This record gives sequence, C-alpha cells and structure tokens, in this order.
Amino acid sequence: MPMLAVGHRRTGACPTFDRPVQQRDGYLLRVPLVGGTVTPVQANAIAEVASTMGNGVVELTNRGNLQLRGLRPETLGPAQERLRSLGLGDPRAALVTISPFAGPVEHALRARVVDALGSIAGDASLSPKFVVHIDDARAATSSRRAEVTLRSTGDTWRVEIPLVGWCDVAADDAVSTVVALAEACRSFGHEARVGDVLDACGPGWLHAVLPVELGPTSSAAAATRTMPRPGDLLALAGGPAVVVAARFGRVDSEQLGSLAALGLDLTVTPWRSFLVPCPSDVEAPRPPVDRLARIGLIVDPADPAADVVTCIGAAGCWQTEADTLVEAERVVALRASGAAVAGPIKAGGESDTSTGTIHVTGCDKRCATRGPVATTFIGRTDGSGFDEVASRARATFT
Ligand code: SF4
Repeated sequence: MPMLAVGHRRTGACPTFDRPVQQRDGYLLRVPLVGGTVTPVQANAIAEVASTMGNGVVELTNRGNLQLRGLRPETLGPAQERLRSLGLGDPRAALVTISPFAGPVEHALRARVVDALGSIAGDASLSPKFVVHIDDARAATSSRRAEVTLRSTGDTWRVEIPLVGWCDVAADDAVSTVVALAEACRSFGHEARVGDVLDACGPGWLHAVLPVELGPTSSAAAATRTMPRPGDLLALAGGPAVVVAARFGRVDSEQLGSLAALGLDLTVTPWRSFLVPCPSDVEAPRPPVDRLARIGLIVDPADPAADVVTCIGAAGCWQTEADTLVEAERVVALRASGAAVAGPIKAGGESDTSTGTIHVTGCDKRCATRGPVATTFIGRTDGSGFDEVASRARATFT
C-alpha cells in the first residue's frame, strides 16, 4: 500500500467540534447537525452559548451546519459540554451530509452509512474534510463537494467518486464502498483525502482497493431543481417549508433565539439559509413570513442582500486584511439604490453587476460558496481593496 506524507495543500487545521481553532475573533466552534436539522431546544442552547460564551455570531455553513464565533479559552469547555448534553457535536454528523430535499429513503441510507462508519468517524487520522454526501433524487445538491456522493436511482444507488469513477449498486454495496473509501484514505496517510491519493498515484490504487467496479468517467448529475430562493414554499417529504435566508449567511444569538421560539425543527441548507416548516394544521400552509421578517431574516427574493454572499474576511480570518463585511454592505447599499456595483471593467466588456449572485471574498480561497456566482469581488490580502475577477468553474476538490 502506498503511503504519503500528506498535508502539502493544507492551509491550517480544519476546525471541528472537538478541535476548535483560534481565529482572529476568538475560537471557532463548528456544530455539526444530524441531517442538517436542529431542534428548537438545541437552537435555543446554541443561541444562549453564542451570547454568553462567544461573540454572539452564529454562521450557517455550506455544509448545512452551524458554527459559533468568538469563544474564549475559558468558555470553550463549558460550551462543548452544554452542547454535548443536548446531543450535538457527534463527529459522525459532520461526516455525512444530506440534501435538504432528501426523503425517507435517503435518510434511511444516511443512518446506515453513519452506523457502518462507526469509530472511523471519530478517528483523528481521517480528515475532517472527508465528507460523504447523500443527494436527493432530483440531484438538487449534485454540485456539493464531497469525497463520495450517493444518489438513489430507484432500485439502486449511484455511487460517484469525483475523478475516480461511478457505479450503480445495491444499498449494501454503496455502504461498503463508502467504508472502504474512508479506510483507504485513512490508511494512505494522516488526514489524506481522495485528492491526495489521486495526486500521488492516480485512480488505479482506489480502483483496486474498493469493493465495486467503478466506471472510468464522471457521471455528475445535472441538477433538475434550481437553488431555492428566499420566500419559496417547498413541498418536502416532511411537509411544507419556507426558505429563509440569513444576511451574509449569519445570524446573531437573538435572531437564533427568536427562531427557536417558533418551536419548529429548522434545517440548515448548503446555501446558508434555513428551511422553516409551515404549520400543517391549516388547509393551505401559510409560512410565518411576517414573523420571520421581523426577526430580521430575508423572506423576499428581491431583498438587495438576498444574493450577496461573503466570508468573514478580516473581521475573523487571519488570511486577509480585506474587510469583506464592509464591502458586502457597500454592495447591498448599491443594489438597494438600483445602481450597478462599480467594479473594474472586465476584459472584453463592461461589468454587469446588477443581477445575479455577488460573491465578496477575503482571499482566493473563496470559502463562502461553491454555488454559481455571477460576479466575484476578491479582496487584496493587504487590505488595499477589492478586484472583480472571473467566477471560476466549480472545482471538485480543494
Ligand atoms: S476566503 Fe475568507 S474566510 Fe476563507 S481563508 Fe480567505 S479570507 Fe479567510
């Protein structure tokens, strides 16, 4: 078996619930959610921990989890203890993500995968970025980056390992392939991922060690569902739900506490928004949009902040001096005034920043989104300004 000293592409330890990482604004505590869902009791506790032990900011991640910012060394342990007491912080929750559009079949497979991975999930030699993603039948989250993606094709499961191959197999084989892939990465090197294996020896070794025969090319499914917009009322397997966006993918502890007070299970989407269930005891489900708007959440797709995405930038990240939050506010204000957002002229034509998603990023790592972006403003890391750059095609691996 080849062995590799991996880590050559790492830019720093990846924060996890058990291993928070100190950022500029304090410790960052990632809270993985089982199936992307948080109960009212859990949401209330996260809000309380954020306000009393952190800096009050709770971010929605593009893995469908929550993360608390600004914790202090002395509050880290009590924060973890409090959240663990409510069933949060299970490393297996971070390892297996699932589409918010998934139904019972997908959730049943998710439970099987989690069980099968067992202690591998908590093993420090497995990269915290190793993710198994379970897509929905309409491939709404097919662009989700993962080491392996599973999607129901009816009687079988499509197993897709980007740049390695795919196959359609029974559920048992899909689960055993996931476990074999995790074991292969773990045995290949500390925190090795599929990309590390491919860099070192191409796909051949993985083809040899996996229990199924993989086709040689990608079968990445085209999404047959567009990204949900704020205010959309979705018919989900568990009942109707409304899409509610958080400004710049973050809420404060008061907003999260108000959401918890609705008494509903909330789902965090990979698009950094919430799915809020609608009351099912009325004939025509009417989402509580007025109440959600009063909380300060975005329920109108025409809201000028609805399509502005940003990372925390200099306010919390060591990698840059670019103040993305200020820049994002500038972008929102310009959009609200009806003006196009001023950016350098692109080669070959004028910028059109009046529509589409604008991504403001503090550096070229572009953490905030992997979704489609019309315009990207990338911060100069010395803090001297932002430049409009080409929105690159989605990469399969980081
Ligand atoms: S994209 Fe933003 S959050 Fe990510 S490393 Fe760069 S500045 Fe930091």
